[in-house]
Amino acid sequence: MSLARELTQALEAAPLGTAISRFRSALEAGLARTVNGDAAALEAAIASMPETQAEHVSFSGPVVRIGDREEFGEQQRTALHAALMELHPWRKGPFELFGIAIDSEWRSDLKWSRVERAITPLAGRRVLDVGCGNGYYMWRMLGAGADFVLGIDPAVRCLAQFRACKRFVPGAPALLLPLGSEDLPPASHCFDTVFSMGVLYHRRDPVAHLHELRGQLRPGGELVLETLCIEDGASAVLEPGGRYAKMRNVWAIPRCDTLLGWLTEAGFGAPRIVDTSLTTTAEQRRTDWMRFESLEDFLDPADPSRTVEGHPAPRRALAIATAPA
Ligand code: SAH
Repeated sequence: MSLARELTQALEAAPLGTAISRFRSALEAGLARTVNGDAAALEAAIASMPETQAEHVSFSGPVVRIGDREEFGEQQRTALHAALMELHPWRKGPFELFGIAIDSEWRSDLKWSRVERAITPLAGRRVLDVGCGNGYYMWRMLGAGADFVLGIDPAVRCLAQFRACKRFVPGAPALLLPLGSEDLPPASHCFDTVFSMGVLYHRRDPVAHLHELRGQLRPGGELVLETLCIEDGASAVLEPGGRYAKMRNVWAIPRCDTLLGWLTEAGFGAPRIVDTSLTTTAEQRRTDWMRFESLEDFLDPADPSRTVEGHPAPRRALAIATAPA
């Protein structure tokens, strides 16, 4: 089955009511972008993976586990390991597939533990994860009892890594579509909880991003927003101009009170900061599954409280707010 057919069919079955047709139009636009050479190579790697359903899965611990070691023979495991490596770099995780441990660049479980204790419990909720990466948190959201999780991310490699996992749990109520938040149908008002983690500073107009997110929430629904931030006492917002921690596309990093102001401006109620934390090299580091540069290389070796460009080192804020009733 073609990728377009597979995703369209999965979308038709999603519990999104009358908004489905509007998501279908957005998907057509998103798919038009995934047609490139990279996508074909990723597709070939996925197609080479064994076709089996995992008997045992676990989404509620730090490691997202799909299939036990005993479910695969040695030869099958070697083939799967090679195919998963073709999908390098694995930035979010950790995962374990049929006994193969994927030690990703980020210990995403650490962020999830900060998030999970601060949010309205996800049991029975319909969730949207904007900029979901390879879907690590989507599995953890299912582990926390969410009814259905839609993830969107424009990166084809993220979609490939998610499909590599979903292949072994085809019935899981989780769907990743290759869309950017600007592609979302305005005012779908479909979701009980909307997450946007690690995306805000990649958008030129942060308040416009917050408006996009508000349009996806049902009245009274919850926004969970995670972003880079700067410390109290600094100026209201850092606009790096050039690179920030070697990233090219970072536009605006707010102070916490600035972030709360943006949330209010975008029409959210009761905005609050529930956590801030400095990113450490225990949480973001180079591994066998992400062999490029990582946090250690982005910080000034003489003063790790600064990035190599001389900006404050990465610090992250977690904010929660409510869509108006
Ligand atoms: N949410 C994950 C991943 C953050 S990395 C986490 O918190 O760990 C940022 C992700 O946002 C990348 O996967 C990137 O592809 C995606 N992204 C970039 N621009 C986006 C946009 N306009 N809409 C949605 N996702 C976007």
